[in-house]
Amino acid sequence: MTVTRFAPSPTGYLHVGNLRTALFNWLIARKAGGTFILRIDDTDPERSKPEYVDQIKRDLEWLGLEWDRVEMQSARLDRYAVAAEELRGKGRLYECFETPAELDLRRKKQLNMGRPPVYDRAALALSEAEKDALRAERAAHWRFRLDHERIEWQDGILGPVSIDAASVSDPVLIRGDGQVLYTLASVCDDMDFGITDVVRGSDHVTNTATQIQIIAALGGAPVRFAHHSLLTGPQGEALSKRLGTLALKDLREQGVEPMALLSHMARLGSADPVELRQDMADLVAGFDISRFGAAPTKFDVSDLAGLSAKLLHGMEFDKVAADIAALGVPENLARDFWDMARENIETRAGMAPLWALCRDGVEPVVAPEDAEFVAQAMAMLPPAPRDATTWKAWTTAVKEATGRKGKGLFQPLRKALTGMDHGPDMSKLLPLLQAV
Ligand code: GLU
Repeated sequence: MTVTRFAPSPTGYLHVGNLRTALFNWLIARKAGGTFILRIDDTDPERSKPEYVDQIKRDLEWLGLEWDRVEMQSARLDRYAVAAEELRGKGRLYECFETPAELDLRRKKQLNMGRPPVYDRAALALSEAEKDALRAERAAHWRFRLDHERIEWQDGILGPVSIDAASVSDPVLIRGDGQVLYTLASVCDDMDFGITDVVRGSDHVTNTATQIQIIAALGGAPVRFAHHSLLTGPQGEALSKRLGTLALKDLREQGVEPMALLSHMARLGSADPVELRQDMADLVAGFDISRFGAAPTKFDVSDLAGLSAKLLHGMEFDKVAADIAALGVPENLARDFWDMARENIETRAGMAPLWALCRDGVEPVVAPEDAEFVAQAMAMLPPAPRDATTWKAWTTAVKEATGRKGKGLFQPLRKALTGMDHGPDMSKLLPLLQAV
């Protein structure tokens, strides 16, 4: 049974970078008929906010990345305390007393001497008496003692990975104020929830190395890991600082279509071209994590507008019926309205002005030299109800009566009826115009 999870920290809004993680994990679970868990990593009480949890859920719902259940880390603190106790009992969790300033100074010294800034395990050499003295003056934090050996795994994207544990600092699992840190919480959850596959960003590779040892120390089963590359801007520039401006909720407000975004993200950085999918089932069927590469992935937000427009142009009526009804388009006109509108919009919001045009008409735009012609033509306009043949029949009759043809015939009529010199196919639009 495949079980995956998406584990955002509710300390901000989800952005396109998080979306890759969510989508890959969701696709793996759905493709295997498995379970997808939304895990809220909220062990940091100061930075975690309920409104971010709500927005994370709204974003995932908007995208159709539905989850089978939600787990909150803040509800599992007792479990983490038990795991910490187990690690202490096994001699794998040790008490440290360095202040951030002390650690910082040590790191700088190491770097100056050309050495990697790895924690020197000074705390392991403290006697009980020294520890007692330190305990009296400051709170202890707790580090996991890594076994100094190579940590190896077969990564679903990176291939074989091998990390020398001695090049990594023993990770802090519990802070001085007692707060359990993500590394321990995540391992406990992955074990307890039977997680089989973890996909996350390549910024977590070192975490993975340490977590592999923590899982083993707690007697857990190994997990399949895959680390996707991080997104960069179109020029290869780091996107991390700009990710705040690429929040999913903002893309949604800009009218980006969920399936356009998902289709893009399900292929970006893989060996396969982006293919627009209208349905999740197609997205699931075409997904293969082994097609993704380790190189940073270029992302250009401006691609999304074009993909969204293209998706809309090919979209079935059923997928927009609710939006059309919400605009107040009568049911008997709804399908014809969509058939007219879809090629003329970039986002769903573009339907509103088109419906206003149909419902209310516009102030006719008529050049002085066309005034007489337009008046004559309008007098010949067949009364409603009109159909797809009306425009052709009308303009043919007007052509015969006035001798005008081509652009000189059609353009003034379009401008008189729509106020614009380009726009929807007139034979589709004319039957929908309610005010003429
Ligand atoms: N809360 C972590 C993050 O957002 C989760 C990483 C993981 O998937 O384990 O980076």
